[in-house]
Amino acid sequence: MNFIPVNEPLLDGNEKKYLNQCIDTSWISAEGPFVKQFEEQFAARVGRKHGIAVSNGSVALDVAVAALKISQGDEVILPTFTIISCAAAIVRAGAVPVVVDCDPCTWNMDVKQIEAKITSRTKAIIAVHIYGLPVDMNPLLGLADKYGLEIIEDAAEMHGQTYKGRPCGSFGAISTFSFYPNKHITTGEGGMLVTDDVHLAERCCSLRNLCFQQKKRFVHHELGWNFRMTNLQAALGVAQLERLDQFVARKRYIGRRYTELLSDIPGLQLPLPRTNYAENIYWVYGVVLKDEVPFDAQEAMLRLKKHQIGTRPFFWGMHEQPVFKKMGLFSGESCPIAEKIARRGFYIPSGMALTDRQIEQVSCTLHEVMV
Ligand SMILES: *Cc1c(COP(=O)(O)O)cnc(C)c1O
Repeated sequence: MNFIPVNEPLLDGNEKKYLNQCIDTSWISAEGPFVKQFEEQFAARVGRKHGIAVSNGSVALDVAVAALKISQGDEVILPTFTIISCAAAIVRAGAVPVVVDCDPCTWNMDVKQIEAKITSRTKAIIAVHIYGLPVDMNPLLGLADKYGLEIIEDAAEMHGQTYKGRPCGSFGAISTFSFYPNKHITTGEGGMLVTDDVHLAERCCSLRNLCFQQKKRFVHHELGWNFRMTNLQAALGVAQLERLDQFVARKRYIGRRYTELLSDIPGLQLPLPRTNYAENIYWVYGVVLKDEVPFDAQEAMLRLKKHQIGTRPFFWGMHEQPVFKKMGLFSGESCPIAEKIARRGFYIPSGMALTDRQIEQVSCTLHEVMV
């Protein structure tokens, strides 16, 4: 039996054709035409005026934080249950990350806990959509309005998802995306910022390109980075974007099928198929071992690996990260839900190339290892 990887992308559309165009025309750098095309088409797809392509989703967050001038002394609220990129961007800017625990059913930031964390120094909220369901945005938007806070929306796991019918990636001052191979669409490595504000868009463009100037190119008034996306990456992006609807439909099918096949396992909490604001797009199919199960996620993952099935653990909360504890951050912070699902949650193969046969095989094996 062959190993079933946790993720495998599908690259069988126009990817090869557009990559060949890059080679044939010698346009391989960030100056190539696919970059502009991908930026415009992607921004339009999420209902934004401007798209700024960058080299990955993590640096998109660094650029967003810098573009909004978040700096020394500012506090930024974010979910503890997320990827380190969000907190790293805040800390690198000299600002202070302030975490909120997650909801036990959607695994997203519990928006009811945000207001208690707002202080006079709070400058922004990073809203991160987790695993396939969006954050409950309306209450969050209400708080941002009430307290005059900026919103950065991390939509890296949410291509093609909507919140109450409005595209994820269209909320807040700036939204960010990733095109890592396990995302709904991929460019190998890659990311994008989208915004409606022309000044923010210009700042993002400048920051990703070393803050070169138009006229005096090598005279700099601010420090930027080289976070440019290449034409090769953008060529993949244009081809992948053509198939986003199809990919989302396939992910939903994978999610539905797993739920049918796994719902008779009493010890497993499965992802919510829907909330009153969105239908799950199953970026990944996560499961959480219920309290009565006598082993943790690590053991379950080990058992699955022995049966040739790839998995990944859930995020480890930001407030429990050794790197941040060493900096003296989050001392005494407690987020019981995130702490629990970090230890009892993991996700099973859910990539775009997963076959029906593999879904059945994974489900069958999961039944075996749960006893
Ligand atoms: C994947 C991901 C990122 C980082 O994207 P990279 O392209 O891997 O740097 C950021 N935020 C979230 C929520 C993600 O899932």
